[in-house]
Amino acid sequence: MSIERDKIRWNGWGWAAHKDALAGREDVWTWLAQELGMPSLLATPARDIADVTLPASRLHTDSRADLVAMLGPDRVRDDAYERAFHALGRSYHDLIRLRAGDLAVAPDAVLYPRGTDEVSALLSFAAKHEIAIVPYGGGTSVVGGVSATSGSFKSVVTLDLSGMDRLIDVDVSSRTATAEAGIYGPALEKGLQAKGMTLGHHPQSFEFSTLGGWIAHRGAGQGSGRYGRAEDWLVGAKLATPQGILDTNGFPASAAGPQLNDIVLGSEGAFGIVTEATVRIHPAAQASDYRGYLFRDFGSGAAAIRTAIQEELPVTMLRLSDPDETRFYRAFGALGKKRGISDRIADFYLRKRGFDARACALIAGFEGATDTVEASRNRFNAIAANFGALELGEGQGKRWRDGRFHGPYLRDPMMDRGIGVDTLETAASWSKIDTLYAAVRDALDKAMRETAPRPGAHGVTLCHISHSYPDGASLYFTFFFPRALGIEIEQWRAIKKAASDAIVANGGTISHHHGVGEDHLPWIAQEKGALGIEVLRAIKRTLDPKGILNPGKLIPE
Ligand SMILES: Cc1cc2nc3c(=O)[nH]c(=O)nc-3n(C[C@H](O)[C@H](O)[C@H](O)COP(=O)(O)OP(=O)(O)OC[C@H]3O[C@@H](n4cnc5c(N)ncnc54)[C@H](O)[C@@H]3O)c2cc1C
Repeated sequence: MSIERDKIRWNGWGWAAHKDALAGREDVWTWLAQELGMPSLLATPARDIADVTLPASRLHTDSRADLVAMLGPDRVRDDAYERAFHALGRSYHDLIRLRAGDLAVAPDAVLYPRGTDEVSALLSFAAKHEIAIVPYGGGTSVVGGVSATSGSFKSVVTLDLSGMDRLIDVDVSSRTATAEAGIYGPALEKGLQAKGMTLGHHPQSFEFSTLGGWIAHRGAGQGSGRYGRAEDWLVGAKLATPQGILDTNGFPASAAGPQLNDIVLGSEGAFGIVTEATVRIHPAAQASDYRGYLFRDFGSGAAAIRTAIQEELPVTMLRLSDPDETRFYRAFGALGKKRGISDRIADFYLRKRGFDARACALIAGFEGATDTVEASRNRFNAIAANFGALELGEGQGKRWRDGRFHGPYLRDPMMDRGIGVDTLETAASWSKIDTLYAAVRDALDKAMRETAPRPGAHGVTLCHISHSYPDGASLYFTFFFPRALGIEIEQWRAIKKAASDAIVANGGTISHHHGVGEDHLPWIAQEKGALGIEVLRAIKRTLDPKGILNPGKLIPE
């Protein structure tokens, strides 16, 4: 195992040794209570692993002995920490259950294979003995993608792929690299950067997610404007299935019928296990420039993004916060700091120039060759100015970059104080973005008010445009709400349903980059259509006839 699992939190985010940045910050808790309409916040600590009882492993002793004979005792694990760690992913819904010690879905054992042959052998074994298999990369799924559900089978084992972490080949002249699927983001980038190259795929979960996970859930990194989404950079993959290896044989381009990569991308472990992949890489950027802008409102910021993307300006990232997100993070960042005369002058100047409560912050990122970065930034400055924006300089961009992976660490301390924090995302064409944005925001606000634990309490909804395309963009919502203790799962379901219904009713996809998993199953049939679902079922039947792979995910029963 390349990453020792007991160094990572089993019921929260990140390194166990990570220091709580909000410890002792009573100013933050007082402010958040006000934001949520609560007189004060509660103490809601998570249970300790020592106080949690796991269901007995249902794996037959003969099967366990056979697995130990195949992999060795160190790579067949059924101690409490391993089973608890791998029970669920890292969504709010998962954390509520993990923190409460509700481990009804813990896997019966966790297996650590070391290569394609071992994965294939394990799949044949599991199919023969009717054991469900859950493929597991970093386990950062936020849609229930790694829940260790056994479906109709008596037992379930999780295949943790983190031991398959070799960077096999870097072909600098073709600008491709081949790696095993369990390699973590930082290890992959380190290996590529040693050759002067990068994949450039940086989801916010970068530190704890894997190449195989990125492909299997069809992810998008924060710099997808330049580096692309998983479907843009995947050249080819090996997919181990109970029926054998499907090798999608990447080519630079091919007209040889439908491309099999599309069976691998977004397959969420339900069709097979990605064991190796070849990906398109880039020379490490010679220059990078991240900077902030302020628009008078969301509409003008969105129009600037659309203009830049439709004229094919080379940008790495354009991230536009709505007024609430702009206000919330500005107020959060100002807590504990003394406001000086220069802050007051800046506020006065902004108000004078028409930047009021509707103002929206945008972070623009440009990476690549020095000339291209300079030219793109200058052109974006001109576009932004045309839409009335103020350019705020590199300070904002640097702060965003420095903290780009820190946000998730704040979720656990908030959950310790009775606050629910969740995110969801969608995408739609530009002509539908405004109505989609308003409908989802209103649905979230209404559902959070209706499910609040006391009258007057409510949630806070923040949104930003995270990724953009010539024909549309994605909207990423973050929402905070006071937890309704004792009925938190029902509360979460009500909020999730309200938002997801609003998404599909207003022309959005149920997911732009988080995937389907278990949580989005109720809406997937509407998006794909009955025939579309039948096609997916036919692929599943062909590759996994007994249905042992990741039961209950991706395809509705
Ligand atoms: C705080 C946070 C921030 C996030 N930010 C982003 C973001 O910016 N962009 C983004 O795209 N996503 C994001 N996500 C979602 C999640 O991290 C991504 O889905 C991540 O890429 C998943 O990778 P993983 O290795 O953790 O996969 P896992 O969570 O282990 O698995 C995801 C799915 O793929 C399957 N799977 C995993 N590995 C394989 C394999 N080798 N073969 C077949 N199936 C496999 C699993 O069964 C599961 O269905 C975020 C999640 C969190 C918690």
